[in-house]
Amino acid sequence: VTVMETRRVTGVDVQGAAEQLDRLLGDPRDPGNPYGFAAAVTRDERDEFPDELCAALRDAGFHLNYLPRELGGTFRSFPHSLALVRTAARRDLNAVPATMFSITAATCLLLHGTPEQQRHAAAILRRGGSVAFALSEAEHGSDLLANTARLERDGDGWRLTGRKWMVGLGQRCEAAYVVARTGEHGPGAFSAVLLDLAGASDKHLERGPEVRTSGMRGIDFADLDFNDFPVPADALVGRPGQALEAAVRAQQVVRVMSTAGSLGCADTALRLSLDFAAGRRVARTSVLEAPHPRRELAVAASAMIAADAVAIAAARAVHVAPEAVSVWGCAAKHVVAEAAADVIDRCAGVLSTRAVLRTGGPGGGIFQKLRRDAELVRVADASPLANLRSFAAQLPAVATAAQGDAEEPPRGAAQSDTLRAVFALDSPLPPYDPSRLDLNARGTDPVTAGLAPVAMRARRSLFEGGADEIAALIERLTDEIDMLSVHAARARASSNPCDLIDLAEKFAYLHAAACCLHLWWANRHLSLVGWAERYPTLYEAHPGTPAWLGGALGYLLAKATGTDPRRKPVLLNGALETVLDLHASERLFSAVPVRLARPADRQRP
Ligand SMILES: Cc1cc2nc3c(=O)[nH]c(=O)nc-3n(C[C@H](O)[C@H](O)[C@H](O)COP(=O)(O)OP(=O)(O)OC[C@H]3O[C@@H](n4cnc5c(N)ncnc54)[C@H](O)[C@@H]3O)c2cc1C
Repeated sequence: VTVMETRRVTGVDVQGAAEQLDRLLGDPRDPGNPYGFAAAVTRDERDEFPDELCAALRDAGFHLNYLPRELGGTFRSFPHSLALVRTAARRDLNAVPATMFSITAATCLLLHGTPEQQRHAAAILRRGGSVAFALSEAEHGSDLLANTARLERDGDGWRLTGRKWMVGLGQRCEAAYVVARTGEHGPGAFSAVLLDLAGASDKHLERGPEVRTSGMRGIDFADLDFNDFPVPADALVGRPGQALEAAVRAQQVVRVMSTAGSLGCADTALRLSLDFAAGRRVARTSVLEAPHPRRELAVAASAMIAADAVAIAAARAVHVAPEAVSVWGCAAKHVVAEAAADVIDRCAGVLSTRAVLRTGGPGGGIFQKLRRDAELVRVADASPLANLRSFAAQLPAVATAAQGDAEEPPRGAAQSDTLRAVFALDSPLPPYDPSRLDLNARGTDPVTAGLAPVAMRARRSLFEGGADEIAALIERLTDEIDMLSVHAARARASSNPCDLIDLAEKFAYLHAAACCLHLWWANRHLSLVGWAERYPTLYEAHPGTPAWLGGALGYLLAKATGTDPRRKPVLLNGALETVLDLHASERLFSAVPVRLARPADRQRP
């Protein structure tokens, strides 16, 4: 297993690389920019693959951002890749599937492929090809144990028969990591093979017609129909029976990275809506100042800031606490995808008719496209329910560990070190070691388990600073987390299976709220979101301001408890002010506020 070398990656490093990429691609609002919104809408209307955009991204090494340097890739760290991918996704989400769908197969190969298999796949990726991941079957969806595609022994090797569904880049891929049945029962009945498909005969492989989708138009999803496909012995990846475990562990990383797509779509939705709201006048004021749209934008800003914090934490956790990512990563994917959908819905309300224009309007009609695209990110890899189900069974143990003692952290110094390494953005990350990804977090969620002592000190500090309302939210958060074990016991005893899923969703939002608090607490000496042009360095702007924290906590606690986030407008306004600051200074809506391309930055090919 390859342990990826990670440079010391601080927020500043991450920011610099993403700024460079965004400048290279130019201002997306420019209607003449081939990498801008209008061009993306034109491709969407024509169901076109983003060839020109991909070529520019390949020239910048973007397409190898998940491949380790030892294999010729450009990977530095997950937060680094997260920032890069969101800056590409904000202009056209299709940039992500077009250049990164091979991340799942590549991660599986890192987990259990031979060095030769890893090098072979890397060579394909380096020359701009793709290695597909073929797991799903139309009849079974996320019920993977019911899959029927089968590998039958044939001499030293096998023959593969069966139909794989919705394979990303299925028409153009040169190779595929295919999961198929070699046994009869249980998760150990599936094995993986790495197949070269480039020269496959029509008799043995039929690449179905493009599966047309509402979003990600122009990306080729295809069914791969294998018929007695000859599989050489050395195509087996790992040992027989290992495939599902490898696929599930790889998908943990993919789910974390998928948050970049959701964040990119939400960023553009909010940015265009703020442009519109500032410029459009209604009833003698701007839409931005009118009470109802302003409140909707405040909720959207709070959801955006919260989603950003959750995604950054999860990306860092893949390095620091990979053993916990089976819960952490899936909870993050849920919250970020749902929050992005909420941002987009509320912005659609503000944009009104302009949200549905296919051409013209803000971003030349990109809004209706990004809305469809974000919906695909939400269900890619697993339905929201399947994602929640994937960690629900772990919750009773996780909830017990989360019953906090403010004075005595259950795992003491080690836990504090983990939290500091994840949340202090200026602390170096350890190398990414995929072998530490685990199917089960074994009752450990450092975020909720380590919350109590941080919450106690944070509340005291906020009370002293006069931020009583935010301090009160933290008290509610710790109460809710303390109650999780009671809810978990009830859900386990309940005859209603929805109870455990509802608990998983509640947990995801509480975990997310706890992430926001840890992020604020660990970076009080730094400026997180809230940077503005007038400050000479990133870290000198409003260090420690809790303004964004109030909005993020207010939003996430409302989602966790099934209440309406609009009930706390004052707190949400703190997040809106932060977002307006970032909007005015043309920065990503992020704790790592990447400076975005401006018209003067445009570099034409
Ligand atoms: C953008 C995109 C890219 C994709 N790329 C690939 C790819 O490269 N390779 C690949 O193999 N596949 C790919 N897929 C397919 C993807 O993996 C499937 O979407 C996934 O398997 C989920 O299948 P499903 O939608 O049928 O959902 P399911 O999870 O099967 O859900 C169907 C319905 O059943 C419900 N449900 C599911 N499980 C349960 C349960 N246990 N109890 C009660 N209800 C349940 C769900 O809530 C949902 O309402 C892609 C899909 C998308 C959208």
